[in-house]
Amino acid sequence: MIKAIKGFNDILPNQSAQWLQLEKVLAEVMSRYGYQHIRLPIVEQTDLFARAIGGATDIVEKEMYSFADKSDPPTPLTLRPEGTAGAVRAVIEHNLLRGDTPKLWYIGPMFRYERPQKGRYRQFHQLGVESFGSALPDADAELIAMTHLMWQALGLKDEMSLQLNSLGEIDERHAYRDALVAYLTDKQHLLDEDSKRRLTTNPLRILDSKEASTQALLVDAPKLADFLGEESMAHFEQVQAYLDGLGIDYQINPHLVRGLDYYNKTVFEWVTDKLGSQATVCAGGRYDGLVGQLKSTDSRNHDSQANSKPIQSEPAVGFAMGLERLLLLIEAVAPFAETAACDVFIVTHPEVYSSGMIYAQNLRYQRPDLRIKMASATSLKAQMKKADKSGARLTVIIAQQELDEQKISIKNMQTGEQTSMNQNWLADIENFK
Ligand code: ATP
Ligand code: MG
Repeated sequence: MIKAIKGFNDILPNQSAQWLQLEKVLAEVMSRYGYQHIRLPIVEQTDLFARAIGGATDIVEKEMYSFADKSDPPTPLTLRPEGTAGAVRAVIEHNLLRGDTPKLWYIGPMFRYERPQKGRYRQFHQLGVESFGSALPDADAELIAMTHLMWQALGLKDEMSLQLNSLGEIDERHAYRDALVAYLTDKQHLLDEDSKRRLTTNPLRILDSKEASTQALLVDAPKLADFLGEESMAHFEQVQAYLDGLGIDYQINPHLVRGLDYYNKTVFEWVTDKLGSQATVCAGGRYDGLVGQLKSTDSRNHDSQANSKPIQSEPAVGFAMGLERLLLLIEAVAPFAETAACDVFIVTHPEVYSSGMIYAQNLRYQRPDLRIKMASATSLKAQMKKADKSGARLTVIIAQQELDEQKISIKNMQTGEQTSMNQNWLADIENFK
């Protein structure tokens, strides 16, 4: 028997109602803020991710699902590990940055080759938002406020805490990186293996090492905040002032650096203590350089462009949330009310099945609010068994006698009571639900 690939999950009918409900609540919140939906391809050129996300990141180093297509020469392609790179490619390619700058959201599967565990899968789903065109801190605050409203709409407001940091600008980060490397170099032997490697590839990521010994070393290390210039500091302070004004609590976490290279200035994460080590449900930040970086034909990475002619960019800020983690949290603390898949079940004697079909079809036209299910034209007894299992509150029974009398039989599935009613009784009845 061929099974699903490890880390790739089926979302079965007993879970899909929760997914649909979650997606509906989130989509409503985004539409209340005037954000528009965009649908992007699942496969992109590998180069797009390598350039956008950065070579020395977990995703590009070891997590991408990449393959070559059948063209000659083959094009290196990758199943998208995240949505920002594709969204930025699309807005550049279709000139969406001219005129009113877009505020976009997308939802869908992402793919990363990681060790599967609770809250971590190889195919997972993200909802992402990208807001283009504003370099000002109000854009950062608006996104955070929107996520805050999402938690409120989902009944999760008390489960989430907001962590905030500023990564400053590239030159500030470079100066800090040099200071951090200088501080750690002669203490290398005390670092965990990952951090030792990162000392040469991506030193800032050492800050979010989970190793206690590494964290102990960092207590006396130089602080990124001390390297931020006036403009970065003012931006960060204004984001905080907006959040204070909105009554949104946050903690400043100087070790929050995010795994992806494209961020600058504000970065944030919403974390919960209910999901063990997969604690981050939503993460985002500002990425003012990415549009320019992907517009350029220069394939060198962002950092090396510091010396070449600056490319005109377009400021942007965004976030992505992991829907599996969000659903695990919802299940744990605020599950959606269960709704039966069916309100009315229609049982029809097989000899008059066509009349039953017509009745059901008319009722569906008349009562779009009801979920109306029919069984196949087997024996009445077999159909009644299905009605019992359906969760329906009422079963309509139609046989020759009912048709002769122009009536229907209604069985109340809670009490078992059966009554004879006019054929249009259900079409007209109010407050059924
Ligand atoms: P982590 O530190 O947990 O690996 P990340 O920094 O790689 O997360 P992002 O790239 O910022 O995660 O993705 C945003 C969100 O998507 C995460 O906060 C998480 O909720 C979700 N997510 C990321 N990777 C996975 C995965 N493999 N399985 C399920 N959800 C994921
Ligand atoms: Mg990760």
